[in-house]
Amino acid sequence: MFNFGAVELVILMLVGPFVLALYFLPAIIAIARHHPNTLGIALLDLFLGWTLLGWLGALIWSLVQIASPPAAAPGPPAAGAAGAGPVPGAVRFCTRCGATLPPDAVFCPACGKDSRG
Ligand SMILES: [Zn+2]
Repeated sequence: MFNFGAVELVILMLVGPFVLALYFLPAIIAIARHHPNTLGIALLDLFLGWTLLGWLGALIWSLVQIASPPAAAPGPPAAGAAGAGPVPGAVRFCTRCGATLPPDAVFCPACGKDSRG
């Protein structure tokens, strides 16, 4: 058993938070990144973090493997997606008001927005 004096206690109180923050760094990163496997990373970190390998694994896990980026910008049904140009026969929608556009329309008949941009 350690002989636990006041000096050791002060050192522990000063260093402790940093050690804890470092220990839970993978979980903190996972939470900050809204990682889909935050729970798994936190558990791995908690239970195996004291083995350097578990900690390293959790850290790497927290830094990689974020699946697809956020879904495409919300809006009217994706007909003739951006940059694809007019698709023959495809229904297009005004990006401003959502009105259905005639296939050859340059301006939205409802709000007048330039439907090409
Ligand atoms: Zn419109």
